[in-house]
Amino acid sequence: MKITEILSSGSPKLSFEVFPPKTDSSFSSVKEATEKIAELCPAFMSVTYGAGGGTSKYTLDIADNIKKLYSVPTLAHLTCVSSTRETVKERIEDMKSRGIENVMALRGDLTPELERGDRSCWAYSHASQLVSELRESGADFCIGGACYPEIHPESANQAEDIKHLKEKVDAGCDFLTTQMFFDNNLLYNFLYKIREAGITVPVIPGIMPITRANQLERALKLSGSFVPQRFKSLVDRFGSDPTAMKQAGIAYATDQIIDLFANGLPLVHIYSMNNPDVAEKIQSNLSDILNK
Ligand code: FAD
Repeated sequence: MKITEILSSGSPKLSFEVFPPKTDSSFSSVKEATEKIAELCPAFMSVTYGAGGGTSKYTLDIADNIKKLYSVPTLAHLTCVSSTRETVKERIEDMKSRGIENVMALRGDLTPELERGDRSCWAYSHASQLVSELRESGADFCIGGACYPEIHPESANQAEDIKHLKEKVDAGCDFLTTQMFFDNNLLYNFLYKIREAGITVPVIPGIMPITRANQLERALKLSGSFVPQRFKSLVDRFGSDPTAMKQAGIAYATDQIIDLFANGLPLVHIYSMNNPDVAEKIQSNLSDILNK
């Protein structure tokens, strides 16, 4: 099922994100975690993709497995940074042959290793070029793109970021998923600005439940998100007690999700990080809301 069809039914829903294993030896433990998340019957599950393409096979294997065994719709991520056109075309053909319907088209993070390497064979600079490639492939993919309520770190300002976002959507995105954020007002301001700029596709808010104090540091390094004082106090008070921090982090994420549903967003994507326990707790906190 396409994500646009899922979004068209207005009742509140959750989707979960998982990441593929980096090696064959961890495949079975990741498969087990993703299957436990699939048993929760989310609206869809997304499977991430290594920026350099190293996890490409696993991304599609995990996505296939979830779809076939649990009939949960999947969203396979695909990055283009450091890829040649031939490699990307091969990956698109692989997706077509496996019947993948939903693709998240990303540039990928410029890791220090990639930045240091030889760029002469890189065929793509931006995700919008990958969106065009997917559109030209002849497959009827439902295509997602990433967006940043707090601006992508490489952008000089929000106007520039939104201008490039519009180019990406015009290249053929059917929906957008946001970077994590910890203050919903940042999302509401962003939505107002992109609608004003003529971006009309649905936006799926992405929420990262922070369940360990050191996870916050890593997440902030990656996203540069603003952390409200309310959340900082929670980490200060409970950060050194793992079970209390987990409970407080899940409660904070649950609060954010309820506010998003209450403000008319139909679907919230959870960065569940292969953690069935966290996915299950958030879903059970919202059981009556999700059944409406
Ligand atoms: P782009 O849309 O290309 O934007 C990147 C920057 O380039 C922005 O600053 C944009 O404003 C600018 N830009 C765009 N077009 C132009 C132009 N024509 N000229 C000048 N500047 C331009 N990473 C992974 O490696 N694997 C994943 O699976 C993955 N999943 C993600 C899922 C979500 C929902 C999000 C939010 C991020 C994800 N990422 C993933 C991280 C993502 O790859 C990085 O944030 C990356 O730095 C940017 O990717 P993008 O697709 O947004 O790039």
